[in-house]
Amino acid sequence: MTPSFNPPQRMLMGPGPSDVHPRVLAAMARPTIGHLDPAFVAMMDEVKALLQAAFRTGNELTLPVSGPGSAGMEACFVNLVEPGDTVVVCVNGVFGGRMKENVERLDATAVVVEEAWGRPVDLARVEAALKAHPGAKALAFVHAETSTGVQSDAAALCALAAGHGALSIVDTVTSLGGTPVLVDEWGGDAVYSGSQKCLSCTPGLSPVTFSPRAVAAMQARRSKCRSWLLDFSLLTAYWGGGAKRAYHHTAPINALYGLHESLVMLQEEGLEASWARHRKMHDALRAGLEAMGLSLPVEAACRLPQLNAVGVPAGLDEASVRQRLLERYGLEIGAGLGQLAGKVWRLGLMGNSASPLHVTTCLAALEAVLAEQGAPVTVGAALPAANRVLFG
Ligand SMILES: *Cc1c(COP(=O)(O)O)cnc(C)c1O
Repeated sequence: MTPSFNPPQRMLMGPGPSDVHPRVLAAMARPTIGHLDPAFVAMMDEVKALLQAAFRTGNELTLPVSGPGSAGMEACFVNLVEPGDTVVVCVNGVFGGRMKENVERLDATAVVVEEAWGRPVDLARVEAALKAHPGAKALAFVHAETSTGVQSDAAALCALAAGHGALSIVDTVTSLGGTPVLVDEWGGDAVYSGSQKCLSCTPGLSPVTFSPRAVAAMQARRSKCRSWLLDFSLLTAYWGGGAKRAYHHTAPINALYGLHESLVMLQEEGLEASWARHRKMHDALRAGLEAMGLSLPVEAACRLPQLNAVGVPAGLDEASVRQRLLERYGLEIGAGLGQLAGKVWRLGLMGNSASPLHVTTCLAALEAVLAEQGAPVTVGAALPAANRVLFG
């Protein structure tokens, strides 16, 4: 007989998922009801309103796509981009590269504005690309590049898109709840996120919001949306149907209980307070890492508080450090991806993982493992430095 699966105890400080709050897990264990049950439909309305608040938008088309952040990404492209369209895509890490892939799979042309990994998207180069391709349907970029720990200027990029008659498609998977995502203020058109990063819910849901301009573009399509599952013109009959909701697919009922609870918790804390908490935990972690003698390669001005790239000291086997952290302390941190593999670790401070306990545990465990492996770290300096930021 195969026994039940019981996961080991972990502290999740990688690039996502983050630690899920017990309240969210408890919500998900409540009884499953029908996806057209009036009680469930009332909860869906609350999810929509809570998501509008989290995104800082009044957009009518705001819903959680049934699927991970990648499904939200795909939903934005497949609903807005048609064969033959041109899309300017900013690539400064892994996720920008996936946007390009989405565009090309729709038989559209991706005009790539490449930037070095670890740098934010360059506004002048984006403007030049939009000028060189005056008919571009959209400008796509990642607000918070989780692969590098860099934040780009979403307000300026959305304004550039609008100024050139292009829609903006914005990845806020890692930013929503952690740093300001101001959809209406930016004038963002198609903005998607994920449940398992700064919202601290389980993976598998992707909040998406479309501006009236994006909805008009969707309605003016020359061809049918190439995805049936992600076709918003069909999905909105369920999510936006008011009293007469129609079955499209069975909503992931219990997962939505979890998202509802995580959004209720965000509302209780307050969006600004959540941003400030992520910032403060980042400041404490950074103070500790620097006191230890480690470096943060991303420039301070564009550093993401919730995802910290940390330079691996020369000559160190970074994988064995992560392995020891996991085996001894149950602490998960992230490896570098792509061009940054072997060069950085990625320490996530997302949602429920942005806490003094996470910061201090991570610093103490990392210091012990690095010292043991002979890395040139100053022992005993990190915790006092972090504690000064946390508690004055
Ligand atoms: C995690 C992430 C995604 C993908 O989300 P999944 O839930 O893994 O599909 C997309 N974009 C960014 C910036 C991310 O950090």
